[in-house]
Amino acid sequence: MPNQSTCRVCAGTVTEFLDLGQQPLSDAFRLPEDTSAEFTYRLAVGACADCAMVQLMEEVPREKMFHQDYPYLSQGSAVMREHFRALAERFLSTELAGEDPLVVELGCNDGTMLRTVAAAGVRHLGVEPSGAVADLAAEAGVRVRKDFFEESTALSIRDQDGPADLVYAANTFCHIPYVDSILRGVVALLKPGGAFVFEDPYLGDIVEQTSFDQIYDEHFFLFSATSVDAMARRHGLELVDVERLPVHGGEVRYTLALPGARTPSAAVAALLAEEQARGLHDRAVLDGFADRVRAIRTDLLALLEDLKAKGERVVGYGATAKSATVTNLCGIGPDLVEFISDTTPAKQHRLAPGSGIPVRPPAAFADPHPGYALLFAWNHAAEIMAKEEAFREAGGKWILYVPDVHVV
Ligand code: SAM
Repeated sequence: MPNQSTCRVCAGTVTEFLDLGQQPLSDAFRLPEDTSAEFTYRLAVGACADCAMVQLMEEVPREKMFHQDYPYLSQGSAVMREHFRALAERFLSTELAGEDPLVVELGCNDGTMLRTVAAAGVRHLGVEPSGAVADLAAEAGVRVRKDFFEESTALSIRDQDGPADLVYAANTFCHIPYVDSILRGVVALLKPGGAFVFEDPYLGDIVEQTSFDQIYDEHFFLFSATSVDAMARRHGLELVDVERLPVHGGEVRYTLALPGARTPSAAVAALLAEEQARGLHDRAVLDGFADRVRAIRTDLLALLEDLKAKGERVVGYGATAKSATVTNLCGIGPDLVEFISDTTPAKQHRLAPGSGIPVRPPAAFADPHPGYALLFAWNHAAEIMAKEEAFREAGGKWILYVPDVHVV
């Protein structure tokens, strides 16, 4: 009998289809001298038989993940800075073009998106529980509330600022298991004609590319149009638009509105039909995905062990949250990957979660260049490969494991 849990959206039965083993917190980079026991949980993913929502089987308490020292910074990628600047400009000329508009962003992080809104003099509020990143947003002129967004937060924002034209969340809504509270809050906060827009990794891309490292503690839900449509209806909202995005390895931007407030776009029906046609939520498709993940684990470990036997140096590139899933699933430690190069100061000179692989600043990557770089930040491959032309010129090769293990 496969493992089962209760759906966080509809209380239906969630049946497990992939077990990724005991895993640490994906963003808990430890000081080398820290010998305390590392928190772990079982990372496994299942699908709800009733509403199709794909979700983790076990939940990690939110305070363990999002706290004063949460290290992820939105501004770390030039592609993402431009993505959020362009989106903010679009919002300013659409959702925020009316009389004295208000936008509330969940998980505004360092304020990368809201900076453009603030610079335009438009009313805004970022809700961000992680202290250090929220401080960066405030320093950049963004109005921030250090808090978890949930129903009570939404009600107090409405009391203070009035209703919102737009509630927005990027790479945040899928992090939040308590959807009932969030969506009740969103409904309470929105103006009748307002919209809740959120963008998150897309189940369709994850299955197609076998990007299993999108599954980790923070990514509680793997959304699809089918599951978001069902979730929206359940909470008195309607899915009125979907937009495929190339960022972060493939995402969808969903727009929800109050029923009847907007005419759903043709893109919604098209994506729902596409998911149906490819059987995205069928057990056989999800089982096939799980089989491919196990094959990647075997192939990656075999490649790294072969390179080690040949005396080759392999360095990791990008100490992403995603990399924790890969290293801990495959059992990759400092014996196979010398260190991980990363630009984020809060991760440098620390040890990667679980694996204990040291994280070093980018200067170490070129001192001297290794023969092979295991690209953990494969979702930024084009940007990184262009930046690391010198690595190539020195004869370096990239190892990728999505959609399968290959060297380029
Ligand atoms: N939106 C940014 C982006 O796309 O680059 C940051 C994404 S980061 C992966 C997720 C953010 O969500 C973190 O900064 C975290 O602190 C925040 N977060 C988690 N739970 C939240 C909640 N209930 N309300 C608001 N923010 C939350």
